[in-house]
Amino acid sequence: MNANIATASYIGATILFILSLGGLSNPETSRRGNLYGMIGMTIAVLATVFGPRVTAAGLPWIVGAMVVGGAIGLYAARIVKMTQMPELVALMHSLVGLAACLVGFASYIDTSIAITGAEKSIHEIEIYVGILIGAVTFSGSLIAFGKLNGKIGGSPMLLPGRHWMNLVGLLVVIWFGGSFINAHSISDGMTPLIIMTVIALLFGIHMVMAIGGADMPVVVSMLNSYSGWAAAATGFMLSNDLLIVIGALVGSSGAILSYIMCRAMNRSFISVIAGGFGTGGGGTPAPKGDAAQPAGEVVPISSAETAELLREAKSVIIVPGYGMAVAQAQHTVFEITKLLRAKGVNIRFGIHPVAGRMPGHMNVLLAEAKVPYDIVMEMDELNDDFPQTDVAMVIGANDIVNPGAQDDPNSPIAGMPVLEVWKAKTSIVMKRSMASGYAGVDNPLFYKDNNRMLFGDAKKMLDEVLTALKA
Ligand code: NDP
Repeated sequence: MNANIATASYIGATILFILSLGGLSNPETSRRGNLYGMIGMTIAVLATVFGPRVTAAGLPWIVGAMVVGGAIGLYAARIVKMTQMPELVALMHSLVGLAACLVGFASYIDTSIAITGAEKSIHEIEIYVGILIGAVTFSGSLIAFGKLNGKIGGSPMLLPGRHWMNLVGLLVVIWFGGSFINAHSISDGMTPLIIMTVIALLFGIHMVMAIGGADMPVVVSMLNSYSGWAAAATGFMLSNDLLIVIGALVGSSGAILSYIMCRAMNRSFISVIAGGFGTGGGGTPAPKGDAAQPAGEVVPISSAETAELLREAKSVIIVPGYGMAVAQAQHTVFEITKLLRAKGVNIRFGIHPVAGRMPGHMNVLLAEAKVPYDIVMEMDELNDDFPQTDVAMVIGANDIVNPGAQDDPNSPIAGMPVLEVWKAKTSIVMKRSMASGYAGVDNPLFYKDNNRMLFGDAKKMLDEVLTALKA
């Protein structure tokens, strides 16, 4: 493939990626968006592999690596459960970071790149910054992976003087950046490069370890953004325009998502990055146990009684959470929805921006079950409607319906907007036990007078409700 065809293919792929992002902004066009992305990526890979910069000798290596990597990716995609998707995504982000580091070191020791003067300095800055972003992304994403799959505890690790440590780390990185650029030989430059890489790796670990359970959504989207900038940095190091453009698209869309997540959680981006958020203003998480137990009584309800309440209701709001994903209850939820709609009940879904374990988690599940988009509303769209709602049915959600976020200034989730289900005539919470959610805090909702608890696996309980409704 000659250079002109490769360039034209790159432009075509770029357009498809932009169309893909546009498509992904709306559930109804997201399938098409995914398709554009897949076609764009196929064109990009073919134009790169068969483009003018790959020699005949290098081709078998690339094809071999693609076969091995593709097989691993295919296997992982086939076995991963929907609830494991967030950790898989975190793992993939870490690989982008690792790739940026490896490409950085490879281009530094590559003596075939014959450049001098300002061009050489610019290339070295690209390498230094590329490895810096790559290393933070790599180690931060690995810790996020551990936190998301529960291998690392959710509570924040708050080292004394952590902000000073970060600041000193940054200054050391800048100082060694100077020695790296001024180094006279590759072996001279290698020492500052390695020291910076180690500091960046430690910073990535420290940054994500310091983050409390409830603010992981911001971290996930932030690492998504970092992985984009790491890819863009790799593009600069390899002088690959397409990689720069794609990296910038991922980096900026991830940054916008982080901003949306911060707004959804009512947090400032800086406070999340600096750590300590999700800990009730930087202290230790709220105490658990009897001392912290909210006042009131927990009143259980049976599935038959739930069906009865739903049958009598004129308006119902369903609030799905992570437990619906675990139970894979979305199809039964939709069966119940269809049945109630046929009886004239006004039934809608309330989606919290951080429900589940990844952005858009609930929307994906409901779309999979073919729930019509026009009854799936965002939190802001229906929070005012709860007082006029007969039944608010919470399916495997906890933190996102916790009134403590509004009433308890010491709560780790204080200030986070929540779905005000307790304002409905009756709220029913479907979960297996009194266990806390991801943020690890008690939920006073369970003790409210107008709340009922339907204990059990969400799928099993909803099946029983459906059977009772049909009877
Ligand atoms: P939560 O984690 O707060 O609560 C989920 C609840 O589901 C649990 O209390 C659990 O209770 C219940 N549950 C689990 N399995 C089942 C089952 N099979 N059947 C019925 N219930 C079940 O989830 P939310 O969606 O309310 O809130 C999301 C939380 O995750 C927030 O704290 C958010 O910050 C965090 N987060 C979100 C991310 C995102 O991008 N959306 C990323 C990372 C974290 P029990 O064990 O008693 O059944």
